[in-house]
Amino acid sequence: MRLSQLVTKTSKDTSQSDVSRNAQLLTRAGYVNKLMAGVYSYLPLGLRALNKIEQIIREEMNALGAQEVLLPALQPREIWDQTGRWDTVDVLFRFKGAGDRDLALGPTHEEVVTPLVTSFVQSYRDLPRAVYQIQTKFRNEARAKSGLLRGREFRMKDMYSFHATPEDLDAFYEQALAAYKKVYERCGLGAITLVTYASGGIFSKYSHEFQTLTEYGEDTVFRAPGGSIAINKEVVEDVEALRAIVPGYQGGTVELEEAKAIEVGNIFKLSTRFPDAFNATYTDAAGGQQKIYMGCYGIGPSRLLGTIAECLSDDKGLIWPDEVAPYTVHLVSLARTPEETEAAERVYAQLSAQGIDVLYDDRVGPQTGEKLADADLMGMPHRLLISKKTMAANGIEWKPRRATESQVLPFEQFLAQGVQMKAA
Ligand code: ATP
Ligand code: MG
Repeated sequence: MRLSQLVTKTSKDTSQSDVSRNAQLLTRAGYVNKLMAGVYSYLPLGLRALNKIEQIIREEMNALGAQEVLLPALQPREIWDQTGRWDTVDVLFRFKGAGDRDLALGPTHEEVVTPLVTSFVQSYRDLPRAVYQIQTKFRNEARAKSGLLRGREFRMKDMYSFHATPEDLDAFYEQALAAYKKVYERCGLGAITLVTYASGGIFSKYSHEFQTLTEYGEDTVFRAPGGSIAINKEVVEDVEALRAIVPGYQGGTVELEEAKAIEVGNIFKLSTRFPDAFNATYTDAAGGQQKIYMGCYGIGPSRLLGTIAECLSDDKGLIWPDEVAPYTVHLVSLARTPEETEAAERVYAQLSAQGIDVLYDDRVGPQTGEKLADADLMGMPHRLLISKKTMAANGIEWKPRRATESQVLPFEQFLAQGVQMKAA
């Protein structure tokens, strides 16, 4: 992609009403644009990153054997009445449609998915099943001041699993937990994302949240130092509960630290609540009617995008992890002569031919400082630079975004062999 052709431009403007770091950075770098509080447009760079996150999630859910669907966001009141949630879900967008019909915009999809999937479940042979979707959700959040972290319109992956027994649900739940860990690792957040015990509602003692540590987080968790497990402060009723679940805490040997974090995922055992509400059962091997057990598993890809911006950035700008970066390479041309321009064009063509995604700063107007500042702000993992100086040394400058030092590689050798862009 040639930067000279890109729809968006970077901006230095930090005066906007958005005070959250993620929204400031993503807006200045031209990734997103705010329409109103909690509602954002995804621009070409932002959409590429969002799509990459969603693709990672898709791959990990497919690996679990879950099947992708797409369910309606526009929903009739009746299904919400059937579960008793029309009046109790405070963030539900409710409005009147044609014919004075009561409608809702989906904040979550148990009401749609439960009657749908169970309509295909007759006998024990039809279980287990798991479906998921990646979709725009709507929640009338009271406060939407955290940029992409809390949207009123936002992206969610929601998966629902259906089982013949609680034991089968338990087994799938453990696999889903492992799959979630892979998602956060691939998104570059593995080291700072904790599996967190949270309240489980009525049916199981705990649910699990995935909480990414950052001082900007809205949630407070207790963690054992250095460990990857935590407890959401909201669930802690007494110390006995802590002792029961934190390995090593038994006997008071481990001090728990309080920390701020962002909830980037949440998995729940719903048990039979929703199948019961829709009178869904299955026939067991002996011909008896049995209850269906359900789990639900959510991740917010747009919140993840915001979390990455929030946590993996420095005072110069964004720092994308390899698998999420919109482009792998930011190629900066500081060419002043036709020869230098030709060299930059050769690099662009060569890397593109190798299937490497390159954002090519071929702009003629901007000065060196502006181009380098833009590369830092936009945050691609690798910066390549061609200038009079590098050409005089028959070289090309390479600097990983995370590194403080750059190095000059021999130009022809670089073109012939490339460099291991992923290895840095
Ligand atoms: P929170 O406690 O932050 O309000 P939640 O527990 O209501 O979230 P779930 O219903 O479990 O969230 O949704 C699944 C996932 O969707 C969350 O873990 C989060 O990653 C994401 N998510 C939820 N609400 C929002 C929102 N308003 N904006 C962006 N992402 C969200
Ligand atoms: Mg939650």
